Amino acid sequence: MRDIGYYNGKTGPIDEMTVPMNDRALYFGDGIYDATFGLDGKVFLLEDHVERFYGNLERVGIVPYCTRQELGELLGRLLGQVDGELCFLYWQTSRGVAPRNHAFPREGKGSLYITVKPVEFPDLKKRIGLSSTEDTRFLHCDIKTLNLLPAVMAAQKAQEEGCQECVFHRGEVVTECSHSNISILKDGVLRTHPLDRYILPGIARKHLLMAAVRRNIPIDERPFTMDELRQADEVLVTSSSKLCLVAGQLEGRPVGGRVPELVEALQGDLLEELYRYVGRL
Ligand code: PLP
Repeated sequence: MRDIGYYNGKTGPIDEMTVPMNDRALYFGDGIYDATFGLDGKVFLLEDHVERFYGNLERVGIVPYCTRQELGELLGRLLGQVDGELCFLYWQTSRGVAPRNHAFPREGKGSLYITVKPVEFPDLKKRIGLSSTEDTRFLHCDIKTLNLLPAVMAAQKAQEEGCQECVFHRGEVVTECSHSNISILKDGVLRTHPLDRYILPGIARKHLLMAAVRRNIPIDERPFTMDELRQADEVLVTSSSKLCLVAGQLEGRPVGGRVPELVEALQGDLLEELYRYVGRL
């Protein structure tokens, strides 16, 4: 199939799938999502993503649609039905289907929604442009909830400015980007915002830090400022959909570009991990 959608047991081409009007995802964004690549029939870093997904569901009290193992098997099965070398798998569980009421029914389980579609390999060599905006999101950025309005507005701002991502900052402090984490290399140290309620605990971020440890690159998980970002030797933008991109411009001015060989090495590590995971290496 060209692509596939799944909703509570039904499957079909994404364009032909529908969801009930009373799904709480629609009027409250009352749900949790996650996403990753699929390659050669394997769901990349499935354990990490499933762990975060179920952890998030538990934190907000949503009853999962199925067990972790069933979800893993289902994702693998759907991936196997889609043509295309590299696919992107997205899944979400809302608090289920119920008439609109802020307080939620205690009985019933969440709805499961999945899409799988082919994507191009990300071009890791191409340096991206970054715009920036004040981070006006709430204080639960560590939960991968469907409430993404400020992220949507920020991503749109980036696009309108000819950029690929938008950096969020609270005052002068950089937190993350609209749909990625951000790290800097400065004087041989990899610096990134600590895991707190201001950022999503990104899985690509985690694997970038693991790659840095293997290369004996010191890691400093502390907040850094917009000024430190502007002065960085390199700026790395990580996410499960793009692995690890490197910035070349920030707010219309050149940024980074001082240790390209180190960037290439780290990007190579992440790609190698993907290929190893699916058994290509
Ligand atoms: N930060 C935000 C706000 C995101 O939305 C995402 C991904 O969607 C990330 C970071 C990167 O997380 P991951 O590496 O798990 O994809």
